[in-house]
Amino acid sequence: MSPPSPPPLDRPLPSAPHFTLSELVFSSTAQNYGLDNTPSPAALERLLQLARLVLEPLRMRFGAIKVTSGYRSPELNWYVSLNRTSRHCRGEAADIRPLAPGVETPLLALWARANLPCGQIILYNFPKDWLHIDLAGPGASPPRLYVSQGQRSPAPIAADDLARLVSRRALGKELTS
Ligand SMILES: [Zn+2]
Repeated sequence: MSPPSPPPLDRPLPSAPHFTLSELVFSSTAQNYGLDNTPSPAALERLLQLARLVLEPLRMRFGAIKVTSGYRSPELNWYVSLNRTSRHCRGEAADIRPLAPGVETPLLALWARANLPCGQIILYNFPKDWLHIDLAGPGASPPRLYVSQGQRSPAPIAADDLARLVSRRALGKELTS
């Protein structure tokens, strides 16, 4: 059986209507270097799964979400991180930022960990800026949380510890609701 044709770039995705394929494959780096960032059929399938299982539920729970980086071809990933392998290259990861006022990345991270089929959830440049989130693999362990500050590599953090770090806000109430 031939793979289904990709959905139109700029239409709402049927299974994740708050997102379009174009925002999941867009990269200013790819544009700047003239790189083709079209996913393979297999990567596209996983990207659509990521949108349906992870991005759309986050959007429904927390309002508008900007995808700063979704799919990356191996070549694009090399330009981004000097590495040709990443969950982004498999269509299984997105870097996102919440846009709604008062919604911060730790809140998304903790909710996603408790409710979504995620693998790694990484808060970059904690406590603000962006969140990396990827799909759980088959038979995967529960989602793992990591935090990085500034240029430091991400370090694992327990959900309770992250919640404690951000408890100065209304976050505590959200977590118990
Ligand atoms: Zn990422």
